[in-house]
Amino acid sequence: MIKMNDVYKTYSNGVTALNGINIEIGQGEFVYLVGPSGAGKSTFVKLMYREVKPSRGTIHINETDLSSIKEKRVPYLRRNIGVIFQDFKLLPKLTVFENIAFALEVIQESPRNIKKRVMDVLDLVGLKNKARFLPDELSGGEQQRVSIARAIVNHPKVVIADEPTGNLDPDTSWEIMRVFEEINARGTTIIMATHNKEIVNTIKKRVIAVEDGLIVRDEHRGEYGYDI
Ligand code: ADP
Ligand code: ADP
Repeated sequence: MIKMNDVYKTYSNGVTALNGINIEIGQGEFVYLVGPSGAGKSTFVKLMYREVKPSRGTIHINETDLSSIKEKRVPYLRRNIGVIFQDFKLLPKLTVFENIAFALEVIQESPRNIKKRVMDVLDLVGLKNKARFLPDELSGGEQQRVSIARAIVNHPKVVIADEPTGNLDPDTSWEIMRVFEEINARGTTIIMATHNKEIVNTIKKRVIAVEDGLIVRDEHRGEYGYDI
């Protein structure tokens, strides 16, 4: 369902972040992307939601060639791919409810359906009682759960998370992982770039290691493999 063919990325400053990536990820897989800082992990995930375009090579998601998508169609792609960031990226002046409703394709949805869908995802992440709160009234873990709810409210087939536990304490990080496992159990593909050794070595999944813009390891139920 996700396929990268000979993908290279050189940024405009001349830095080459990816150096020939070939990968296939199937529907429903859970993949950790690991590697040292600067290895190219963020670039790898940004290519998948077309925040970044490859300098060379092709990327297909569900049979769609990302390079064939016109700029104005990118928002539609984003509806089929949920993205979660280390720093949450919630809109600070909107409530929890509004942050999630905002991500919905609201045009044809009745207010009743919007409310049902938002409350359903808030229930899934355990935050139904915080719908009226503003982001800064929530803990970091709660904010990350709101951002997960926002990412999945359109029922994407793929969820991409870039260091989702990077700003969270260990207990909260494990709670977030439970939410990801639940989403994955419902058939959603999850790709998570992470530096969290304990999580990778405990919740065993496919591990893809990137170093200097190349895949150096790809293991089913792999290990983190680095000291930090
Ligand atoms: P990682 O997520 O593994 O730390 P990145 O993909 O962020 O790696 O970075 C890979 C390389 O590309 C690094 O050398 C980084 O400095 C560089 N890089 C990342 N983003 C940009 C950018 N927007 N412009 C120029 N260089 C970048
Ligand atoms: P129920 O239908 O279960 O009684 P409520 O109407 O009390 O639910 O709403 C549940 C939560 O969702 C409440 O916290 C409410 O503030 C929030 N909520 C519902 N609709 C909106 C909205 N349009 N904007 C912001 N928050 C909303």
